[in-house]
Amino acid sequence: MPGTEPIGAEAADVWGDERETTRAAVRLAARRIRRPSDPKATARPASELRAAAGETITAGGRPAEQVLSIFEDVIAPATRAQDDPLNLAYIPAAPTRTALAFDAVVSSFNIFAGTWEAGAGAIFAENQALAWLVSLLGWPDTAGGCFVSGGTTGNLSALATARHTALRRRGHRPEGGWKIACTTGAHSSIVSDAHVLDVGVVQVPEDDRGHLTGPALRAALAGEPGVFAVIASAGTTNAGVIDDLSDIADVCRDHDIWLHIDGAYGGAALAAPTARPRFTGIERADSFIVDPHKWLFAPYDSCALLYRDPAQARAAHSQHASYLNHINREVWNPTDLAVHLSRRARGLPFWFSLAVHGTDRYTAAIEQTLHTTRTVADAIRDIPTLRLTAEPELSVILFERPGWTDTDYHTWSDTLAHEGRMLCVPTTWRDRTVLRLVFINPATDPDKVIGILRETTA
Ligand SMILES: *Cc1c(COP(=O)(O)O)cnc(C)c1O
Repeated sequence: MPGTEPIGAEAADVWGDERETTRAAVRLAARRIRRPSDPKATARPASELRAAAGETITAGGRPAEQVLSIFEDVIAPATRAQDDPLNLAYIPAAPTRTALAFDAVVSSFNIFAGTWEAGAGAIFAENQALAWLVSLLGWPDTAGGCFVSGGTTGNLSALATARHTALRRRGHRPEGGWKIACTTGAHSSIVSDAHVLDVGVVQVPEDDRGHLTGPALRAALAGEPGVFAVIASAGTTNAGVIDDLSDIADVCRDHDIWLHIDGAYGGAALAAPTARPRFTGIERADSFIVDPHKWLFAPYDSCALLYRDPAQARAAHSQHASYLNHINREVWNPTDLAVHLSRRARGLPFWFSLAVHGTDRYTAAIEQTLHTTRTVADAIRDIPTLRLTAEPELSVILFERPGWTDTDYHTWSDTLAHEGRMLCVPTTWRDRTVLRLVFINPATDPDKVIGILRETTA
């Protein structure tokens, strides 16, 4: 039977015998998956790294154990522990061990998951994970999509589909050009994607809590015939707030405009019953993204991109060439649904962890982080030196230390990071410097966070 014989020395080819190398690499992966991350791991200047690692690429090659040591002792420690329970900055990560281990398995199979004919099994499994998300959205089961590398590409692909759909409907480019509408609180990738697509951005003023509201959107769309898509945030990155999705959906319906929901960070909370009511209206959107590598416990890099009507995505993204003529277009080809052709089956670590743990555990894990958020927010309200900037809606907390200057905030943040105690970085809110905590890791102990805040902000 082909494929059952291990590759041995007798099969030596140009690469020689790679058995020891593969064993050592797999052993390192197994060790790493089991052990916790080092919160003191941190970036270093390239000059220092060069001095410590030396010339790694040589004409003759180097023994695998030497290169693996360089990786383990020099390279990996110069990367941040994204999953440390006290990494509460930017959007951290908290992949399950199950998902991490399976990521290594997925890599070992080197699946081409762009087309059904090459990756059917993997795409089938990815689609089951996507179907769970579709059910959380309350969309029809004819909805579907694929996994792309991240929210930036997911948003880009959805907006390209929206514009293509608008062009087909209207038959021409509007006078003044195509535009999208969103608030300044929408993620930076939206404006970046708009530049890539060469479309304008209508910036809609947000309310005082940072929401896009129906009335503000309606007012902004008056006199803007070129708007083909509205981007609503289901969890803004800076403040973790969810736009008024129901009212926004009404406005989009009245104007016949595509509604894209960016849930890269917050979409995970669809699985949490205590948060689900805030998403009402999401069932009427045309496209949606969520990053499993953020709050759905999967490793990098993974964004689930979903369309209510995948045929519209196919019309926008299918690539055609003589060497692709043989591809069957009647089946599910992720290639046809986003800006990509070759792709790894990056949804599989998420699928495996979901299949093994079950969706109830996912719900419990997300609820736990929401509970941690409320516990820490309550404590901040009680600490006399601190002020809660706004009530958290999901799992982002913005807070202040009245009396501190910009420099005080940055020094405090750097000191805690340097000590490996906690990663919490400042941001700005309404032109003020404030502190920001993000809870997506069920292993985060709220009492530890509260203890550090009490002790260091007095
Ligand atoms: C993180 C984030 C993105 C970008 O996602 P990447 O995976 O980093 O490309 C987009 N939108 C929101 C709301 C995000 O939080």
